[in-house]
Amino acid sequence: MKPRILIAGFKHETNTFSKLPTSLESYTTRGLYQGEEMRSAFAGTNTEIAGFLDACERHGWEPVLGAAGDATPSGRVTREAFDTVTGYILDAIERDGPVNAVLIQLHGAMVAEEHDDGESAVLDLIREKVGPDVPIGVTHDLHANVTDRTGELADVLVSYRTYPHIDQHETATICADLIARAMAGEIKPKVTLLRGPQLDGVDHGRTTSPGPMREILALADSLTDEHGLLSASINAGFPWADVDYVGPTVIVVADEGNAGAVTAAEKLREELWRTREVLTINPVTAATALAEGRKKGKVGKPYVIADFADNPGGGGYGDSTGLLRAMIEGEIENAAFASLYDPESVEACTAAGAGAEIELNLGGKVDSSLGSPINVTGTVVGLYEGKFKLEGPMATGVAINIGPAAVFRTGGVDVVLASRRAQNYDQQFFKACGIEPTERAILAVKSAQHFRADYTPIACEIAVVDEGGGITSHNFKSLDYRHVRRPIWPLDDI
Ligand SMILES: [Zn+2]
Repeated sequence: MKPRILIAGFKHETNTFSKLPTSLESYTTRGLYQGEEMRSAFAGTNTEIAGFLDACERHGWEPVLGAAGDATPSGRVTREAFDTVTGYILDAIERDGPVNAVLIQLHGAMVAEEHDDGESAVLDLIREKVGPDVPIGVTHDLHANVTDRTGELADVLVSYRTYPHIDQHETATICADLIARAMAGEIKPKVTLLRGPQLDGVDHGRTTSPGPMREILALADSLTDEHGLLSASINAGFPWADVDYVGPTVIVVADEGNAGAVTAAEKLREELWRTREVLTINPVTAATALAEGRKKGKVGKPYVIADFADNPGGGGYGDSTGLLRAMIEGEIENAAFASLYDPESVEACTAAGAGAEIELNLGGKVDSSLGSPINVTGTVVGLYEGKFKLEGPMATGVAINIGPAAVFRTGGVDVVLASRRAQNYDQQFFKACGIEPTERAILAVKSAQHFRADYTPIACEIAVVDEGGGITSHNFKSLDYRHVRRPIWPLDDI
């Protein structure tokens, strides 16, 4: 009989500074799939679930399909959402088990209403169900915050090595293959996890240019060879979580009894600390970015501006107006912006119809302390369904739904208005709303880094604006941390 392997995913990157809870609806709108639905949603995509399914095929395993859920980063995961998704996973084990191993994709950095450490709470429930001897393989995002408990519960723990995250399938493959070796009795993997007194590190994990993350991964590789490790992962951490265990970690997986695991983990932790202040990006003000954009942006090679401080991919509301206001008032031409979270304005555009000229109060509605709406008149250029599939290198093939959308032209800017919060991962955010990005002189995206995978090839230059009005700012001292362990860099002098 074929070995039966539980395949599951429960992802969240919780920004505890967000006032928007992450509800069950947050999962169903972004993507929550049960059982066989997981196959149709993920087969052939660049995701971990696809990587796990392919591993089943390769190793001759029978997949037991639990559930896979993801929600856009926002506040704490509600009890209902947590219990529902874990319930689906546990029910599958009950119904189709027993299982011989578990492969689960967890972001690392989930904070739930009743669990500061969502991941270990999920793993505790699974471990209880499958017993102490069934190997559990876990994949993490490289922005994972990870507790010691998660390290104890997982037999194998492997994180992405790229930011933008273009190695999701590959990470799942590495994890599954180690679990296969454990099942064959070839290895007895054990996780060693270390963290330092820091909130952020390794340039927040960026791998698009030479810098700390690429260097520490090279060191991890050489230590892996030197000490015969099974894998070594570096988590840059997710600093916008006000929890005790926040921050970067190093994770080494090695055979039980391999003393090299601790030696290697300590060297990697030293490297995390040594490079903590090195950043490869240099955020600028909106005014500076627009001055450059006016000079350099042109059709074919647009100038791309990222709205770093309000990245929905890190929990930002996606409706802050700082950069957009500067663009509308900045006398720029042929620009496009995607997307501004503003369901009210989408409704107003829909009621007025394409071609209508109307007055709107754009954005700035979720948290008035972060900025006010922009009162403007403009034209409704078009109305869209807001459903499309990613075609860029990251999460290729994954379905995205920004809800009913409208393109509204005001000043020299075509603004994509969306009914749901979403990070701009790739050019489809414009194309699905009738805008050809390469025909624009300036493009602005609500994203911090992931956009680079698909926009770098078409951009003449990229600017990152980190200027007020968002809860994903890199200016950590501006955030009200109350629960992180102290002292911690850079909040304290160490
Ligand atoms: Zn990430």
